[in-house]
Amino acid sequence: MTNANDTVSSVWNKPLEPPAKIPESADVVIIGGGIVGVSTAWFLARQGIAVVLCEKGHIAGEQSGRNWGWVRVQGRDTREIPMMLESLRIWESLKEETGEDVGFTRGGCFFTANSSKELQSFEDWVDVARDYEIDTRLINATELQKYIHGAAIDWAGAMVTMNDGRAEPHKATPAIARAAAQSGATVLPGCAVRGIETSGGAVSAVVTEHGTIRTSTVLCAAGAWTSMFCRSLGINVPQLRVRGTVARTAACESVLDGNVFDARLGIRRREDGGYTVAHGSVLEHPVTPSSFKYFFKFLPALLQEFKVVRLSFGREFVDEWTTPRVWDLDRLSPFEEVRVLDPEPTPAVLKGIRRNLDKMFPQLVNTPIVESWAGVIESSPDVVPIIDSVDSVKGFHVATGFSGHGFGIGPGAGKAIAGMLTGTDTGIDLAPLRLSRFFDGSPIRPQSAI
Ligand SMILES: Cc1cc2nc3c(=O)[nH]c(=O)nc-3n(C[C@H](O)[C@H](O)[C@H](O)COP(=O)(O)OP(=O)(O)OC[C@H]3O[C@@H](n4cnc5c(N)ncnc54)[C@H](O)[C@@H]3O)c2cc1C
Repeated sequence: MTNANDTVSSVWNKPLEPPAKIPESADVVIIGGGIVGVSTAWFLARQGIAVVLCEKGHIAGEQSGRNWGWVRVQGRDTREIPMMLESLRIWESLKEETGEDVGFTRGGCFFTANSSKELQSFEDWVDVARDYEIDTRLINATELQKYIHGAAIDWAGAMVTMNDGRAEPHKATPAIARAAAQSGATVLPGCAVRGIETSGGAVSAVVTEHGTIRTSTVLCAAGAWTSMFCRSLGINVPQLRVRGTVARTAACESVLDGNVFDARLGIRRREDGGYTVAHGSVLEHPVTPSSFKYFFKFLPALLQEFKVVRLSFGREFVDEWTTPRVWDLDRLSPFEEVRVLDPEPTPAVLKGIRRNLDKMFPQLVNTPIVESWAGVIESSPDVVPIIDSVDSVKGFHVATGFSGHGFGIGPGAGKAIAGMLTGTDTGIDLAPLRLSRFFDGSPIRPQSAI
């Protein structure tokens, strides 16, 4: 039986709840109620910082509520690993700290290999794991069968990290937002930020659709909207969007307990006994003016992902083309016009997911897909985040570009970003994630997939 609690789209398919009033001032204002914004708010509030978080739509209404729910260190870019290891520690204690079950469990992360050559290709990352004392190893087909039951695929083996896990995206981000509020943060869904005011080159206030909040410190954690928001302030943040289609099955017999990635299917066990499933190698990039503007910066990522990313031409081009670069702060902004970025799942991709699921696990042929949705992933050129203070506007900071793997790292990022905002050393080096790496001649080299 379907439980309303398991319905992923419940986080964005609900009436907007605009705030009755907003604070006049704050130490820090955060733009964006995804996992990065709410985690940062939580860490700041616990230090007694007066923090206000503004979300134009719903908490977790965009990427953070729509993702696959993988919480993994396996396969990551080395620049993300220390933050991700910290994140795993935070996930482990999240239930106790927030008082809510967000479905976090360590069921392991498996990247399957179809040939012994593909299996060997994972060895480089096993070496990386060894450097960080991460328990990643290669396993053969016989051992893989202990973890994946009844698959009709002749895999050669897999790379596995048993300490990796999963959580329920539609529960986790709202739970952290509630924890932040309980610690003293003011969390304002239905409150779009239109822009900021400055005085002497420094942030002096945030202008929202419901009024102005005086502050000297702003974090823009606006996900897929960050580039547009920053452009209105004259700040160049290279970012492109891709769309992913996702589905979930009804509760069914267990074929695996962790997360399995195969080029045909990404599949993970859900807390409700079903599976979250997606195509392993289809992402759609709606071509927009930004695709041309940032073409060369994204070329290495595009070459790496050319088999995965499908270009589509549709109204996104016209939408971006007709969106003003700057707008008056006393009028409706582009953020109020699109409260929730809610793309349609692509029917052909859904068919492919069903076909691949049935082929891979024939015992699930009669298990219905009970919900499907799509999400817009925003990516940086080297597919790792940008976390930085912006030199040109004192007090303005960005945290974006988490690409297709920002959910798992979100709580760790929140801790590191809170440290950046308060000048506290968290032991996580943010220098490799600076914005200027895309402009200072540093080579742009993605180490992992989107
Ligand atoms: C299909 C899919 C699968 C994925 N799978 C995984 C996975 O398995 N594991 C993993 O780790 N990651 C995964 N990701 C990536 C992950 O979801 C994202 O990296 C992460 O959620 C980004 O969080 P965020 O807080 O930066 O952005 P978001 O969650 O996008 O939040 C940004 C928020 O800012 C708000 N906002 C924007 N502009 C304004 C404004 N002007 N005023 C107020 N609010 C504003 C938006 O409404 C939005 O809610 C996946 C993503 C997708 C879409």
